Amino acid sequence: MDYKYQGIILNKRDIGEVDRIYTIYTLEGGKIRILGKGVRKPNAKLAGNLEPITKAEIFVSRNRGMGKITGSIAINNFSNIKTNLDLITKVFYVFKLLAKIISEEEKDEKVFNLLEKYLSGMNKLSQDENKADILTLGLLFKILDEMGYRLEVEKCVYCEKKLLLENNYFSVSRGGILCHNCHSFEQKKIIVSNESIKLIRIFLQNKIENLVKLKVSQADINQLKLILNEATGWFVGDGTGS
Ligand SMILES: [Zn+2]
Repeated sequence: MDYKYQGIILNKRDIGEVDRIYTIYTLEGGKIRILGKGVRKPNAKLAGNLEPITKAEIFVSRNRGMGKITGSIAINNFSNIKTNLDLITKVFYVFKLLAKIISEEEKDEKVFNLLEKYLSGMNKLSQDENKADILTLGLLFKILDEMGYRLEVEKCVYCEKKLLLENNYFSVSRGGILCHNCHSFEQKKIIVSNESIKLIRIFLQNKIENLVKLKVSQADINQLKLILNEATGWFVGDGTGS
């Protein structure tokens, strides 16, 4: 059987003498792993369109087991990302995390579209580490939300009262914010600024392509990274939150 996918190449791994296994997030089938046979031969044409951080049309033949790539056409090379080490590092961090939190062959068009818009946004950035951080955080908060880890950032997860501008805390096990009155009921928590709470709301309520307009302080970026780290750790179930 022959299949055609639109996919974003996440990762490649050499196997055998001349082959590779590619991990690709596809619109039609979610995350898949497929074999690139002979792609490391010196005259192989296929490999050029299969570099990680490329959106491509991919043709696959599959009978049983892992499919085999028979052809590919690059749709977007995101070449600006590939020439900027800071952007590459952030994108690969995202890809590595996705490899952990997304199961194979679970189709999710929303995640695919988010990922594509994220890469387009990153591809337009110049040397602006702050914006790259905001886009990356926005994407990951949105993906966690899409995958069912919904952070409660409107009301206290304990007393359910609307959050006020006071000392609030984030609890990963309760999946949201604890208010000033309730935080003592939970041991494992991190203090969270009102600005960070507001930013998470903005991430969840706005289109990813609009997030580059945000101005965020380095302190808030660091705090959001910490929250995200806890949340993804919890999500993959290692229980340590790291
Ligand atoms: Zn409360």
